[in-house]
Amino acid sequence: MKYKIKLSNITTYKFGGYCDSFYKISEDDIGSFKEVFSNRENFILGKGSNVAFSDDGYEGNIINPNFNSLTYNDSLSEVRVGASVFLPDLARYYKNNNLVNMEFLIGIPGSVGGAVKMNAGAYGWEFSDVIKSVEAYNLETNNIEILLKEELNFSYRSSENLDRKIVISATLSADKGDPNLIRSRLKENIAYRKKTQPAAIYNAGSVFKNTKDYSAGELIDKSGLKGYSIDGVKVSNKHANFFIASKGAHSSSLYKLVSHVKEVVDNKYGISLEKEIMFIGKFD
Ligand SMILES: Cc1cc2nc3c(=O)[nH]c(=O)nc-3n(C[C@H](O)[C@H](O)[C@H](O)COP(=O)(O)OP(=O)(O)OC[C@H]3O[C@@H](n4cnc5c(N)ncnc54)[C@H](O)[C@@H]3O)c2cc1C
Repeated sequence: MKYKIKLSNITTYKFGGYCDSFYKISEDDIGSFKEVFSNRENFILGKGSNVAFSDDGYEGNIINPNFNSLTYNDSLSEVRVGASVFLPDLARYYKNNNLVNMEFLIGIPGSVGGAVKMNAGAYGWEFSDVIKSVEAYNLETNNIEILLKEELNFSYRSSENLDRKIVISATLSADKGDPNLIRSRLKENIAYRKKTQPAAIYNAGSVFKNTKDYSAGELIDKSGLKGYSIDGVKVSNKHANFFIASKGAHSSSLYKLVSHVKEVVDNKYGISLEKEIMFIGKFD
């Protein structure tokens, strides 16, 4: 189905103007839009928890998958999960089936497709630790492909070989575990997030990537930028790598704040921070 949509209504940052060509697609009709998708630029949107859309909107097509299947194969010790499944729901599904090692997803408000693309992670775990393979629709060939984990070349918050491909589902390892361990990990992870991250306000998680050499939040904090703000978008006082927007703020202000913080950290430490959040559409 094609819709006209205000992008600020469908992302965690609540930024963005209009998109006239927003396609919500199911697994059954994925092939029906071949021509539409081949004629314009496309952006594939999951839960919108890692993106900031331009205040001017988006001129191409936005493809929003609605793939919600979820099945557990006991004998193969694997779960096949649709790309649109919400990550905390997947963590709870694992817990309810006494399956271990998905507790790290409990506080990440994205979809499986977004987690594959971004190699989402927390507490030392990454999505790539549990992926066996990914099923994807190739927008160039209009074929469905199975990509093995090795073909996706995962690294910190990144994957390869998924450009112009819609993730349909992921097949994940699913091993039985101790229910007490699963429960206690979930509890710990929820408590840790509450303690360290700003809650229930507009943001998209970490703005910059960390590396093994530094924590972006620490560099921003040591640069004296906690609380610094531009037109309603502010470096969180609780966690310096979270930039919080107030109601009605603009993504252009986030863009300016990100550029400013990057410049200050670069001048002070000679380190060029790399963005983890994605700016989509026109910014200058
Ligand atoms: C409060 C908060 C806390 C967060 N904490 C963490 C954290 O601890 N760790 C972490 O890694 N991230 C974290 N994030 C960021 C974000 O939730 C993750 O990056 C998540 O994986 C993004 O998923 P999404 O569905 O929202 O993707 P979107 O933001 O919609 O898109 C992100 C990217 O994935 C692509 N994509 C999405 N779906 C598909 C698909 N089906 N096929 C192909 N490509 C697709 C998009 O094109 C885009 O390139 C946090 C965000 C918030 C708001």
